[in-house]
Parts: sequence; structure tokens; C-alpha cells
Amino acid sequence: MSSNLGEKLFQFNAFFFDGDGVLYKENTILPGAKELLSILEEKKKKIFILTNNSTKTREEYVEKLKNFGINVNLNQILTSAYLTAKHVSETFPESKIYVIGEQGLKEELERVNLQVLNNWEEKNSEDPFDFDLESVDIVITGMDRKLTYVKLARAMNILKNKHVRFIGTNADITFPTPSGFVPGGGAMIDILETLSNRKIDTIIGKPKPLMFNMALELSSAKKTDAIMFGDRLETDIVGAKNVGINTCFVLGGASKLSDLVKLDKTFYPDIITNSLSDLVQLF
Ligand SMILES: [Mg+2]
Repeated sequence: MSSNLGEKLFQFNAFFFDGDGVLYKENTILPGAKELLSILEEKKKKIFILTNNSTKTREEYVEKLKNFGINVNLNQILTSAYLTAKHVSETFPESKIYVIGEQGLKEELERVNLQVLNNWEEKNSEDPFDFDLESVDIVITGMDRKLTYVKLARAMNILKNKHVRFIGTNADITFPTPSGFVPGGGAMIDILETLSNRKIDTIIGKPKPLMFNMALELSSAKKTDAIMFGDRLETDIVGAKNVGINTCFVLGGASKLSDLVKLDKTFYPDIITNSLSDLVQLF
């Protein structure tokens, strides 16, 4: 890479980063993340984190990043859980929700006055039918590392009611950890689609435009002045390209360099880097 690229990068005003696989993997910060963000902050650039990960509240992300030595405020964090809660509260206010997902998602939903009907940890010792399946308006799914048989049985039967909406926080099939990949939110959707013999109605996270558009609005940046850093081609890169935002594909995460061949050329990233630390070298 040349210093031309460094100059080119500094012309952007708004920098959007995916979290998992770009800035960190679970509780391990990735090389260059802290350094790049502090350079950008010094240059007074707008920084936003756009994550499909629905397992934490935005406050928990502020805390997580603080532990990595990265200081951001609540408004700089957009998560699929936060956006799903916002979207559902605006379109279906005061709905009763059944959640396949973790505590962070449940908290975001409850904060906007949505009623989470299964707000306890459902154990397989429970009878799946010992639950008012008819009372649910919406099933919302996100990554759930405590997914149980009883939850699947309940969600499957709730979704048999055609009036029930089926909404996903994100469709990421896998989730990168430092040791390897584990099932992501999209895997939960696939299982439920098969079990209920119906398709999901709405997916909120990337590649859908909602998160990108919100980041643009909050940063008051033109799309041509913004760049998205992502490790997953089909969400971060395709989604950003679809709204006209520039992209930097960061290797070592969800997608491999060889996955580029599956992509239509119109979605090719503008920059490809092995890691954020390679970009830090440019400055
Ligand atoms: Mg990622």
C-alpha cells in the first residue's frame, strides 16, 4: 500500500466500523484497532460502530470498548438489537414479543416499552406448551448462545399463527471467535424457518440500509464522505455499497479473500487490507 492510500483515507469524514472480526474477536482486541481509532479521533473524524451482534446493549459495548482502551459514547454505537427495538417500537408499538436471543436484545426491547413475554432463562425442563403461545404478536431472533429445545418448540408453534410477525436482528450465519466460528443469528433464523415452514418477514441488520443510513444521518456526512470497514462481504461490504458508501474489506474475519469471486463486481471493496494495523502504518 502507498501513502497515497493514506491521503485518500484522510479525505473521508465519517468512518464506520464493524465490531466482531474488525475491531475485536470476542474479548480480544485486534491489532491496530485502538491505534487507528485514536488517529482518527485526533483528526476529528466521525467514528461509528455498526454491529449486527445483538447480544449486548449499547451501554455494554461502551464498556467493552473502554476495556480495550477505546473511548466512545453511546451515540457512536449502532447495534442490530438497538435498531430492531427502535424499528419495532415505531411500527408495532407495545407489541408482545417472544425472543430467541440474549439478554442484551431483551433489554433493548423492554427499554422502548415492548413486552418481552419470555424474560427468564427458559430451561429444557419446562413444558414447551406451558406458555401462552397465542398471546405473542412478534417473534424476534438474534444470536442465542443459550438456545434450548424448549425455546425452539415454543417459537415454532408461535410462528404457526399467521398473524405473528417474524423479525430477525441479523442474518449472519456464523460468528467469529478467536478460536474459530460458532453459529450466529442467521443460523437461528434458518432453524426457525425450517421448523415453521415460513420465511422471515423482516431482517434489520446489515446488509439492509437501515443501520448505514442512521450512521450517515448521525454523522451528518454525505455517503461519498463515508467509509465502512468490514470483515463480512455479504453484510458490511454489500450493504455499504448498496447505499453508496465506500468500503474497506478487512481480512482475517468472516470472509476470505477467495470469497470475492462470489461477489458481483459492482460490490467489490475499494480497499482490501490484511488488518487495521496495516492501515495504521500509512499514517
Ligand atoms: Mg464482522
